[in-house]
Amino acid sequence: MKSEMLKKFIENSTGDSISSRKYYHFEYEESEGKGKARLIDDRGYEVSIPEAALIIEGLNNAYIIPDEEEVNDYLNNRNAKNALQDDLRFENLRITGKLFRVDRKRNWGFTCASCKKKVISEDNKIWWVIEGYDFTSDDKYCSEECAYPLHNEMLENIKKSIYKRYNIDY
Ligand SMILES: [Zn+2]
Repeated sequence: MKSEMLKKFIENSTGDSISSRKYYHFEYEESEGKGKARLIDDRGYEVSIPEAALIIEGLNNAYIIPDEEEVNDYLNNRNAKNALQDDLRFENLRITGKLFRVDRKRNWGFTCASCKKKVISEDNKIWWVIEGYDFTSDDKYCSEECAYPLHNEMLENIKKSIYKRYNIDY
């Protein structure tokens, strides 16, 4: 009911035809240590108290009391971010460098799971794997750069599953 009145008041004040268009400005005054804003129409009249009350309520709804749905979205997002941090910490997915053992009699090698380059212990000191709390794989990488795309994809998948759990578009 009140929102209908506010709608009418604003639409009437900003109507399309020039004649019905009304402009308002604010006047500032101070009394008893309080700053006050008064709304004055284009003919110099102050708006009536009921009209001012409507506007104050409208401003209040828009700026001071946020929409419930907005608050829920905000909290949901915040919770999802916390859950994501927890999960990422828990899974602890990381790219780890391993030293080739030097005490082997024969050279040892593997094919990089990403670029398919042959890597042998003779020419290299370090090889790379992706490890996590609950993740192991036989895939080995010649460099951090080669492990990065899959590592990133795994992190993205964790993110996706969390956001899905919270019904957030991702
Ligand atoms: Zn590689």
